Amino acid sequence: MDTNALAELLFPHVTKTPEEMEALFPARNLKEGTVVSRMAPSPTGFVHLGNLIQGLTSERMCHQSGGVLFLRVEDTDAKREVEGAVEILIESLKHYDIRFDEGATVEGDSGSYGPYRQRQRKDIYHVYAKQLVLQGEAYPCFCTEDELADIHQRQEAEKANYGYFGKWAIWRDRSIEEIKEAMAAGLPWVLRYRSTGSIENKIRFTDLIKGNLELTENDMDHVLLKSDGIPTYHFAHAVDDHLMRTTHVVRGDEWLPSLPFHLQLFRSLGFKPPKYLHIGPLMKMDGESKRKLSKRKDPELALTYYRKEGFPVRSVYEYLMTVLNSNFEDWRRQNPDAPVDDFKFSYKKMNPAGSLFDAAKLRDVSKNVISRMDVETVYGEVLAFAKDYDTALYDHLAADPDYAKSILAIGRGGKKPRKDFAVLSDVRPYLDFFYDDWFRVVDAYPEQFSPSDIKAALEAFVAVYDPADDSGVWFDKIKAIADRLGYASDMKAYKEDPCAFRGSVADISMFLRVAVTGKLNSPDMYSAMQILGYGRVIDRIKAMANKL
Ligand code: GLU
Repeated sequence: MDTNALAELLFPHVTKTPEEMEALFPARNLKEGTVVSRMAPSPTGFVHLGNLIQGLTSERMCHQSGGVLFLRVEDTDAKREVEGAVEILIESLKHYDIRFDEGATVEGDSGSYGPYRQRQRKDIYHVYAKQLVLQGEAYPCFCTEDELADIHQRQEAEKANYGYFGKWAIWRDRSIEEIKEAMAAGLPWVLRYRSTGSIENKIRFTDLIKGNLELTENDMDHVLLKSDGIPTYHFAHAVDDHLMRTTHVVRGDEWLPSLPFHLQLFRSLGFKPPKYLHIGPLMKMDGESKRKLSKRKDPELALTYYRKEGFPVRSVYEYLMTVLNSNFEDWRRQNPDAPVDDFKFSYKKMNPAGSLFDAAKLRDVSKNVISRMDVETVYGEVLAFAKDYDTALYDHLAADPDYAKSILAIGRGGKKPRKDFAVLSDVRPYLDFFYDDWFRVVDAYPEQFSPSDIKAALEAFVAVYDPADDSGVWFDKIKAIADRLGYASDMKAYKEDPCAFRGSVADISMFLRVAVTGKLNSPDMYSAMQILGYGRVIDRIKAMANKL
């Protein structure tokens, strides 16, 4: 076969050479050991936790080493593409604070290794497709769908392996005349790789997460270019990650079976392969057994879920860190206020089998994260969440920011901040009673207390309440009421002999709490009364006393 003639026949429009491409996209001028990596998602409109885990791993590896992270949009599968998906993708990654140094942006491309959208790189792929034809390592295949189906059927009948390889690869050794004829007839063709591998052979390979692996060689003549000239993932991966000078490819382990083919491609193209990190899938417990998170069954796989539920970005981020690096939690305990980037992330700590998603743990991490936010941050978080998902809350909080912040400041700061919120949607039921139009008495007094006793306690408090009192004096007054009305002011004494009292000072506080907040559980009462102000506190207590 005159491969020169075939290359010209298939790619007459290609005039550039691989050498010229090398000059256009030269090696990056970076120190030894610097990581260049990428996120390479397909714009399907569905951005999931797996994307984020992959992105975060790449991001940490790049930025901890002073390297480069870029975003490449893998839009070669037009069938799966959804209108606006690229924007959704870019926006979601930005929301989750994956910081790209270059790549696709909503406005276009940024960086000198682009274009960063694969459909715009067609000419580049064709340079290398032509090279492979020239080397005799690629050939056109004019098989129709029906012919492929027929091959499949015959393989089934013969109990042979499925696929286009060996004797089944019916266009592998056609003459140039036959190819010319098919082209002249206007038949569509794909470009296939001419594999010289055999399934009898194994290749050894070290994955940075999975460790040492032994994989079966690839013997398939896989498609490199589809009939519209757009590459398959495999071919684009080799060309792009070489030209964009990727040093580390972090991706889902569903790609592991394709790795032998990828390594063949790198060799045929004369490229040095990158280092690979194949991440195991995200699992969850389903009864007693583990299973992969699924798009259909598990809403928590989608990133939009966390936003809607009101998990701050930082919570999701720290949760994922906890999942990826088992020492993160200890580090965080020892460095509660350190910026998360101070943590030394290590891919070596990642579980080769994948991570287990645990919703309860996520809530736990989130409680800690929110409790450590300062008032301004938490106010900003709640406001941003409410703007999209709870407009009434937004209106209330935005109407008087100082008032809202004074509420959110309760129990914040100090060594042991309160952990009231796991999600931002917990905020509304926590603070609704601070707003008159939302205030309702939702909890009833426990039945063991008689209305007249409660009323007596409430009236006693109205008579002595002075908002100028500090919390010590305020509580002493409540204790004095307790003593006077036959409740224990000393909890120890009460516990020793509960029958000697009507109740304890905690019950007096509870009477006040239900009257003022409408609930049996509420934020710190002294602070709540300070924020509500004398008039409202007294009005609410009196209104309750009148009802009893
Ligand atoms: N587009 C591929 C995917 O979404 C990218 C895999 C890779 O990172 O190479 O699975």
